[in-house]
Amino acid sequence: MMMNSLKSLIPILVILISVVYGYQQFLRSPSLIVDSLAYLPLMLAALVGMLTIHFNRSAIFFFMLLIMSVSGVLIFELTPTALHYGLLSGFVPLLLLFFTVMPERGLLSVRSIPVYAALLLVLVFSAWTIIETPDLVQYYLLTDWLPARYFDWTPLPQTVIFCSLIIFFQLLLLSFLRPSPLVAASLGILLVLLLVLQLEKNAYVLNVFISAGLLMCLYAVMQESWRMAYLDELTDLPGRRALRERFQSISGTYTVAMLDVDHFKKFNDSYGHDTGDEVLRMIASKMKDVSGKGLPYRYGGEEFAIVFPGKARQDSEAHLETLRKVIADMPFVVNRQGRRNTKQRTRNSKSKTVQVTVSIGLADSKGKKNASAWNLLKQADTALYRAKKKGRNQVSV
Ligand code: GH3
Ligand code: MG
Ligand code: MG
Repeated sequence: MMMNSLKSLIPILVILISVVYGYQQFLRSPSLIVDSLAYLPLMLAALVGMLTIHFNRSAIFFFMLLIMSVSGVLIFELTPTALHYGLLSGFVPLLLLFFTVMPERGLLSVRSIPVYAALLLVLVFSAWTIIETPDLVQYYLLTDWLPARYFDWTPLPQTVIFCSLIIFFQLLLLSFLRPSPLVAASLGILLVLLLVLQLEKNAYVLNVFISAGLLMCLYAVMQESWRMAYLDELTDLPGRRALRERFQSISGTYTVAMLDVDHFKKFNDSYGHDTGDEVLRMIASKMKDVSGKGLPYRYGGEEFAIVFPGKARQDSEAHLETLRKVIADMPFVVNRQGRRNTKQRTRNSKSKTVQVTVSIGLADSKGKKNASAWNLLKQADTALYRAKKKGRNQVSV
């Protein structure tokens, strides 16, 4: 109890004390305000560090480390030798891609050892290269593969340019295939760091770009924690918290629908829980495409809600009927494996197509002045019960 309140007060205290201290200093010499901007990257890095540790977001933590390392190396050595420069600029895109595609495993777990091992390897390799200057590394890193005059606009070695281009397009592709705050930040940070490496080295330019990169990290942590709180992990649909917020602000005419998968317990028993999860994901993807501007939510388990703002029952019913039909008509291929724990998968596995159906109940707010959205949800649930009673795979009011 005591510990917890102390824990939550410490950051506030630190900010208060530093503001009071800073204020006194600023009074004495106003130019300090400008000078203190030099510490902006450090402050942002500390913020990103604290948030990523708190939320256990290792990828963004490593992004931050990478940005700070680049900044550190460049500040320490404003005119690096070609080899140092090649090493630094070469590892930046590689490590960024590595951190982006590594599955999230937390910061201090046994399973995050490969990441630390990779970092150590990079450090050892760089140190070895700098001390020994092996010909092979120099050759691959610093050779001009194409005529040098095409590249007189950049201090980056050609190898680094080609690698960066490949990695840039990989990240771009990834941001279309699997869009996420992490991939977006990674793409942004790659560009920022390449700019940092490309532009004239002076501390001000460095400061601005490094801060920009760290702001991207900050934005990504915020976005990721928003997603964690509001989006359901399995289906990527907004969850019950998001539904509650929608209900708080909704007014006028609207419809609330409840959707429940038919005989889902039996489905799980026959085809396994993982296949059941697949079904839920499939249904969610169909719900995302529901017509009539319906907003889908995962209410919990195998139950979903859809809200149609501005629509009365008559207007939303057809859209729900279409959705029900789309789901019922979608072929779902399963491997009939029997029980998961009997190890006869290959012998028994025979794929077949099964039909998954849903029942839907709905209620609208028309003429019900005093009914809250939660009341309507309850009415929709009662209607859903009627749909089940009448034989399932149907929409009921
Ligand atoms: P009814 O047609 O009356 O709805 O029958 P039902 O079997 O679907 O209803 P019931 O509520 O008894 O069972 C719901 C089942 O949904 C039980 C549970 O195993 C399954 N379920 C709930 N959440 C999940 C989930 O996230 N993944 C999977 N695979 N199954 C889930
Ligand atoms: Mg149910
Ligand atoms: Mg059910």
